[in-house]
Amino acid sequence: MENDDKIKLFTNMAEADPENELAHFSLGKLHKEAGNYEEAEVALRRCLELTNEHSVARQFLGETLLCLGRKPEAVEFLETSIRMAHDRGEFMPRDAMRELLKDHGIEPPDLAESEDGGEVEEGAFVCKRCMKAKTQLAEPPFSDELGTKVHEAICVDCWKEWMAMSIKVINEFQLNMATPEANEVYETNLKEFLGL
Ligand SMILES: [Zn+2]
Repeated sequence: MENDDKIKLFTNMAEADPENELAHFSLGKLHKEAGNYEEAEVALRRCLELTNEHSVARQFLGETLLCLGRKPEAVEFLETSIRMAHDRGEFMPRDAMRELLKDHGIEPPDLAESEDGGEVEEGAFVCKRCMKAKTQLAEPPFSDELGTKVHEAICVDCWKEWMAMSIKVINEFQLNMATPEANEVYETNLKEFLGL
């Protein structure tokens, strides 16, 4: 699916269900990638109104503010967000935000090491979506390439979140899953939601 089509899809979804943080998050991400920074800011702020601690949305908003040339605001926002992500144990968005500050000549905030050092045990499965050491799915949810990707990257808890969200997606777009078109919409939403 083209970026413009995806933007349309998630714009419709956000309008149909203004409480849907996935729709606002995905829309913000797509607008940022397309260089529509004003639109990206609106969508990401709406996502954060619904779920203030969304570390990746915070990372994207920080990036967007920098692209809009609002550096002091971006730096303050990123410093807060880095601490929040650190406290939540979400190390990948935390480190991405630290790098972002460094790239702009700012020394990122000092972080107190937590008791256990906050390090993930070696060999543990780390979910690529929530960035936490969690339980992996017992087997791929589908027998195709996408199923393998999900199995390799996504934890049981994130998958459960998607299961709940997929019901919304199917209802909202009135998807008839027997058709290839419906499957494409389903897969696009799944990939955006899980960050695949
Ligand atoms: Zn997860």
